Amino acid sequence: MTTTFDYHDVPFESGIGVAKQIMAATCDECGTVVAIPPQSTPAIRIAREIASRPLEVVMAAPFMDTLDLASYRIDPSAGVILRKALIAYFVHRSVNDDCLVERLRRNAEVHREMWKSWQDTPSKRLSIKVTPRVGDEFDELVKKSALNKTTLVKSIVMDIALEIVEPEEPRMMPELRRMAAALAA
Ligand SMILES: [Zn+2]
Repeated sequence: MTTTFDYHDVPFESGIGVAKQIMAATCDECGTVVAIPPQSTPAIRIAREIASRPLEVVMAAPFMDTLDLASYRIDPSAGVILRKALIAYFVHRSVNDDCLVERLRRNAEVHREMWKSWQDTPSKRLSIKVTPRVGDEFDELVKKSALNKTTLVKSIVMDIALEIVEPEEPRMMPELRRMAAALAA
């Protein structure tokens, strides 16, 4: 059997709905999706899970503005739906990587002056519902980083700024655009 990698709309296992434009290998004879590379699976997983656990933090406005700027850069039409996906994506990426956990631990220290200067701005509430998996991973990351919930989210926003807002051509943009496409499906 020979296969070809290309972008396809891939049906969810439940049979309800599809993840749009996912990189997948299809059988050259019958067109069946036979393999989905690992970089495509987070997008599919995040899109199909049921969100149920509340995650709420109050942060100075610039944190939220940074999050929204990153969302806008990925997909200007996506709106606030990408806030949640971005947090979930970065939590998932960090939880099993000690270097990234260490970076999250240090962000509060590294950016202390900037965070202090933001204290005079209005507070904004981030209120999202996450899937059980993301909720568990978030709890695990709280434990691993020894940061409280709010500081962890602020620190994640700093990583999002570093990876998505600041670079001219963010390395993870293709993956994040696929995720945004899957969410819009
Ligand atoms: Zn086939």
